[in-house]
Amino acid sequence: MLAVSSVRLRALPRNLSICSVSQVRRLTMKLSSPQSSKVYDAVIIGAGPAGLTAASSLIDAGLSRICMVDPTFTAGRIHEKYREVPSNTKTGLFVQWATGTKTFAHIIKSAPGPNAYTKMLELDQDTTCMLGDAVNVAQLLTDGMRKVPGIDSLASEVRHLVREGDVWRLPEHGVTSRKVVLAQGSRPRQFGLADQYPNLQDLDLDTSLKPSALKGQVPFGSRVGIIGSSHSAVLAMKNLYELGEGVSLVNFYRSPLLYAEYKDGWILYDNTGLKGVAADWARKVLGPEKDPRVRRIHLAAPGRKEQGIYDAELPQCTHLVSAIGYDNNEPPKVEVDGRQVKLDFDPLTGRFKGVLGLYGSGIAYPERVTDPVGNVESAVGWMKFLRFCRRVAPEWAAE
Ligand SMILES: Cc1cc2nc3c(=O)[nH]c(=O)nc-3n(C[C@H](O)[C@H](O)[C@H](O)COP(=O)(O)OP(=O)(O)OC[C@H]3O[C@@H](n4cnc5c(N)ncnc54)[C@H](O)[C@@H]3O)c2cc1C
Repeated sequence: MLAVSSVRLRALPRNLSICSVSQVRRLTMKLSSPQSSKVYDAVIIGAGPAGLTAASSLIDAGLSRICMVDPTFTAGRIHEKYREVPSNTKTGLFVQWATGTKTFAHIIKSAPGPNAYTKMLELDQDTTCMLGDAVNVAQLLTDGMRKVPGIDSLASEVRHLVREGDVWRLPEHGVTSRKVVLAQGSRPRQFGLADQYPNLQDLDLDTSLKPSALKGQVPFGSRVGIIGSSHSAVLAMKNLYELGEGVSLVNFYRSPLLYAEYKDGWILYDNTGLKGVAADWARKVLGPEKDPRVRRIHLAAPGRKEQGIYDAELPQCTHLVSAIGYDNNEPPKVEVDGRQVKLDFDPLTGRFKGVLGLYGSGIAYPERVTDPVGNVESAVGWMKFLRFCRRVAPEWAAE
């Protein structure tokens, strides 16, 4: 880590308590900012599981001067929103992820125990865990990564990237780098359907995925509409269902429920099928023996239009949850030689087409994979980000 310069320390006002919030933010950013004269080998934008994985894979691949940028360094959206969500991957995969690069393995080996990783080793490796347990391990690695010699960390957001000649500049931060990796994550897609029906209260998907936040939000007698049939939609339904007898559900779906199937050495519908707690609950409650508290309505039923179905059903509902997918968080504005470029990600190589030295990883930029029977999916998961980075980081580093 770079030492805080005395010039910057002297710039601090004597009485911090009279600073405005924005002044404090600016000052904090300066204090943790890297030196502007240094040219990094790579800047990583976003330090969720994917950004951490990319940074450690690039170090393994031989790069030594790396700057990670993230507003909080708390291991991404899972920490902020999904600690109470049961994982869809087995515990053993998080353990493999945490030791899957040489840099990660060294941090884990050097961390004093007991710690989040040793706690995870005590769990049953062959079943799922709470995402809170996994994210504690990611935070242990975040703290360790920030102490690796050659890695700087900047507590901020990047809004603007400029390519000049053969280097990238982050004009807001005075940082220059040969390569940039985007790993800025995603957020639930907004639908806005609830606005069309005055009786409906829009219930945030993130709130529905967090039982402690859901308590008190949905009174006895509520009838909640849930749009979607993904892993997130099913977990939201489970949490709402578990509020008790006084809450009934109407699930609107386009695609039937899809379950992951464990084959010999691979998983059918690995990225799109239900797994773990979500799969068990869906089989039990949404299966052939219908539960009267949950109605399921197929939006693609022949002869009916989606809007007509909503118009008939939603006036009877009190709340609406939209679980219709995730959109990428806004990437920085990218300018190459004075012109703004539209980003076009190549999911096989992790590069952006036509833009040198810019790469992507994580839920925002997943690898495209084809399974043994020809299904094409986006590979989203911590261990999948790691496999992708282990394959492509040596190529990125060599360019
Ligand atoms: C409900 C849910 C459950 C999931 N369960 C699992 C599971 O069990 N197992 C599994 O392997 N995967 C799971 N995933 C999938 C995926 O692995 C996780 O979403 C993963 O945490 C994504 O990591 P990420 O680093 O790509 O994004 P994020 O965790 O979102 O991290 C992105 C980071 O970038 C920062 N950032 C954003 N914009 C900027 C900017 N402009 N400048 C600087 N920083 C920025 C953000 O603040 C954040 O810290 C789940 C996903 C969801 C939504």
